[in-house]
Amino acid sequence: MSKSPIVIVGAGPAGLIAAQQLAMKGFEVHIYEQNKAAARKFLVAGHGGFNLTHSEDINTFIQNYDKVEIQRIVKHFDNKATTEWLGSLGISTFIGSSGKIFPANGVKPIQVLQAILAKLVDAGVRIHYGYRMVDFDEHAATFTHQGEFTRIAYHKLILGLGGGSWSKTGSDAKWVDLFKTRSIQVNTLQPANSGMNTKDEFSTLAGQVLKNIQLKFAEHNKWGEIVFTSYGIEGAPVYYLNRFLRQHPFPNRLFLDLKPTHAMVSIEKELENKGNVASVLKDKLKLSKTAVQLLRFLDKETYTNSTKLAFAIKNFPIEVTSFRPIDEVISTVGGVSFAELSASLELLKYPNVFCVGEMLDWEAPTGGYLLQACFSSGVWVADNIK
Ligand SMILES: Cc1cc2nc3c(=O)[nH]c(=O)nc-3n(C[C@H](O)[C@H](O)[C@H](O)COP(=O)(O)OP(=O)(O)OC[C@H]3O[C@@H](n4cnc5c(N)ncnc54)[C@H](O)[C@@H]3O)c2cc1C
Repeated sequence: MSKSPIVIVGAGPAGLIAAQQLAMKGFEVHIYEQNKAAARKFLVAGHGGFNLTHSEDINTFIQNYDKVEIQRIVKHFDNKATTEWLGSLGISTFIGSSGKIFPANGVKPIQVLQAILAKLVDAGVRIHYGYRMVDFDEHAATFTHQGEFTRIAYHKLILGLGGGSWSKTGSDAKWVDLFKTRSIQVNTLQPANSGMNTKDEFSTLAGQVLKNIQLKFAEHNKWGEIVFTSYGIEGAPVYYLNRFLRQHPFPNRLFLDLKPTHAMVSIEKELENKGNVASVLKDKLKLSKTAVQLLRFLDKETYTNSTKLAFAIKNFPIEVTSFRPIDEVISTVGGVSFAELSASLELLKYPNVFCVGEMLDWEAPTGGYLLQACFSSGVWVADNIK
């Protein structure tokens, strides 16, 4: 075995799992992280739903990814493997009603991270904090550390530098310029899993949730719940539609089906027969208070005409004007093009340099698919290093 160690840059989920797997195979592994602590974005993810993966059948699961390359990688180390791996760290999980997989009740994100880090220590992995990689070549990576430049030779170099949102966690995408100077194709980082700004002012509804709706754009649609904010809308169906909206210039029109279980004709019938509109909406059609309030945004002619109102309940227009600023979104699409990588995720222009995690150009919705692909790509590279 070579004298130089395996050097992993970036202590996010992708880099950490790669380190563990390689150390278990007997390699000497060193992780270099620019922050003073590991996996800050992972901990941010833990503030919300913290879906570690999803329980779907793997063939359905992989349909959530936009590229065949990442689908293959996820299939290799799948949702079941992730749950088993977490179990091997002492982290039990449970499947929520939505099918998403969470740490067991009472297990905090920091405990999941601590369990991963403890396994790394056991396996002999060394983590060096406060090291920022500023360059690499065929033999070594160059870091700044406490104002000094340090060159560290590697046997294999694995880069898990993250996407381009939440820069305060360290995922600052500064690596993009370095890659470009090396003529490595990096597709422009763009918001993914982003809320949307709307033309209409829904701030009076800010904080309110619409459950069991269907959000539609062209032939695409997604059931779920959305949340109104001071600037527009957030929620899983909004995030799901990101990838289709991105292909068209803003502004664009989405449509909300506020009663997806009912055909328009049955809604119209209810509205025709029974007096006071607000009571029919609430008592007969069982629309939520938020949905009823939303319909108040319609002009009087639509609101008082049963056919037009029924149509609006099935197709409430929401004009969206832009994604949210990239730094605040959950993930980014774009990154290192698969065309620059071998099947083992090794840079074609730099053999022995691998890329893992969100810095690769793939896209998936929230719900555990993001972390799953980060874990899977880390394991994929580890399994391809002999
Ligand atoms: C609000 C929020 C909620 C989320 N919720 C979920 C969820 O519930 N489920 C899910 O699946 N996903 C979720 N995600 C997404 C998930 O956290 C990310 O996809 C994942 O953390 C990406 O992992 P990574 O290892 O590729 O990169 P990152 O976690 O971004 O880690 C990259 C690391 O590299 C370091 N680094 C970067 N450049 C350098 C350099 N030059 N030198 C040294 N170190 C460097 C960074 O400091 C960082 O520590 C969420 C994200 C956010 C922001």
